[in-house]
Amino acid sequence: MAEAPGRAEIEIKGIGVSPGVVTGPALLVTTEEERLVEREIAEDEIPREIARFEEALIATRQQIHEIQQRVSEAMGQESASIFDAHLLVVDDRSFVEEVIRGLGAQRRNVESVLSVVADRYAQALARLEDDYLRERAADVRDVTRRILRNLAGRSASLLSRLDRPYIVIANDLAPSDTATLNRDKVLGFATDLGSPTSHTAIMARALSLPAIVGLHDVSVRISTGDQVLIDGHKGLLYIRPTRERLEAYGKIAEARQTIQSRLAGLRAQRPVTRDGYEVVLSANIEMPGDVDAVLADGAEGVGLFRTEYLYLSMQHLPTEDEQAAAYEEVARRVAPAPCIIRTLDLGGDKFLSHLKTPSELNPFMGWRAIRFCLAQPDIFKTQLRAILRASVHENVKIMYPMVSNVGEVMRANAFLQEAKNELRLRDVPFNDAVEVGVMIEVPSAAITAHLIAPHVAFFSLGTNDLVQYTLAVDRVNERVAYLYEPTHPAIIELIRNTINVAHQHGIWVGICGEMAGNPVMTPLLLGLGVDELSMSPSAIPLVKEVIRSLRFAEAEGLARKVLPSVLATEVLEACRDLTRRVAPDVLELVG
Ligand code: PEP
Ligand code: MG
Repeated sequence: MAEAPGRAEIEIKGIGVSPGVVTGPALLVTTEEERLVEREIAEDEIPREIARFEEALIATRQQIHEIQQRVSEAMGQESASIFDAHLLVVDDRSFVEEVIRGLGAQRRNVESVLSVVADRYAQALARLEDDYLRERAADVRDVTRRILRNLAGRSASLLSRLDRPYIVIANDLAPSDTATLNRDKVLGFATDLGSPTSHTAIMARALSLPAIVGLHDVSVRISTGDQVLIDGHKGLLYIRPTRERLEAYGKIAEARQTIQSRLAGLRAQRPVTRDGYEVVLSANIEMPGDVDAVLADGAEGVGLFRTEYLYLSMQHLPTEDEQAAAYEEVARRVAPAPCIIRTLDLGGDKFLSHLKTPSELNPFMGWRAIRFCLAQPDIFKTQLRAILRASVHENVKIMYPMVSNVGEVMRANAFLQEAKNELRLRDVPFNDAVEVGVMIEVPSAAITAHLIAPHVAFFSLGTNDLVQYTLAVDRVNERVAYLYEPTHPAIIELIRNTINVAHQHGIWVGICGEMAGNPVMTPLLLGLGVDELSMSPSAIPLVKEVIRSLRFAEAEGLARKVLPSVLATEVLEACRDLTRRVAPDVLELVG
């Protein structure tokens, strides 16, 4: 096609993580540093720049005091003292004066001068022998970021203030960005980084928004306002799609819509195979508002409430009352179906900017989830009391994430006991018999499931993390995404073992990782004997269609057939063959 350079259609291939096709204007979302506006200034602008700098310093000082206060209440004085070092930076006269002098000398705006001065300070500190002083380099960088944010007047994320619908393009999106986005104004996502189980992907599926990740450099090839088409099904993104392209996609969208309308009719049908085997299909949610979709798509309750998004959506740690109200609302709306509330799973790729946790080299293997909660009894017990308060609706169940040994379950249960006693002292009602389960998402837990089973009422396999930890493949790194294979024989073996052990101990076992919502996997998971599948609500009709088209005997046959397989691709092909045979329309939709 001979078109003017820069105006021609461009196709970029990534990883399709949430199906559907959408077209619209792009909105490029960049990090604070990238948004930094640097410019030259005239002499008469200097006083105004000094005033802006001083106002930003005042705002920054006040924010640090507020954070310090909250951290002190939640985590004690010692944790809060980390912020003293931040205050020292804001109050360092030589630092502040060097910036002010630079304004006159360099005739550049305060953002430019501050960045250069702060960088010099941080580099000088980083070169020092003394460990304590070296660590102050991070404080200088942190405080500088905060001052720059205040200079830009951007306290809320850009995504929470969209004025019209956009396709969001970014290098990466943090869970704290997606947790606060204005859902009505986002048409889809496309990011340079990420993989099918990164949180941007999970959020996109929860919102039924087409999304592509792992596009490498899409954020430098697109500008805000460019017309974009994304095919979340095939992982294809088009910049400035041609008329022919739009027409072809229009026809595909019509055909897909016909299938989807038929599947929507399954809402009230039971997820039962043709020979009478039934499983529970429940939903994964991130926020209380997601319950609308849970009810609309016909899920039987909530199999995973990722409570950390509640924390990510607020500028402070949610109080016991705030949490109890959120949990109570979800439990009430899905009752009598189960509502499984997972305790806080912070860390990994989910951080609270207002909670100063040390940065780590390997966050997914670090101070995450139950490890963080066991070390922060006040935060943990506040949440447990809130969940217990909601447990007056007897469908509430508690689930601990990232358990790697049975000792953690025992310690968490001891905190639960304390939380119950605290409520008793306050005469607050709760269900003393509330069921407790654990996520099986660390290989050691899957291998020692027999040691954990006696302490819990259920297991839920978190295959997103189980695959990451078993295969040593970072779940958010698009470079190694090709190795992220849920059908790897090691994964099938861990799932099989966990299900068998659970049943030997008389407890039920579900799957709440993304594998559970992939209809291609449904026959195999059924054949392995799983009792519950929990997924993003939009996947429920597809999975239900496969179940209702299948015989349990065929599913068992598939499980028997693939167990001796050597290659993940062999297992995947066998799964696709059976799904294609029983539910070709579904395969058409998911590709
Ligand atoms: C999982 O790891 O499979 C899971 C469901 O938890 P998350 O994706 O929130 O880590
Ligand atoms: Mg997990």
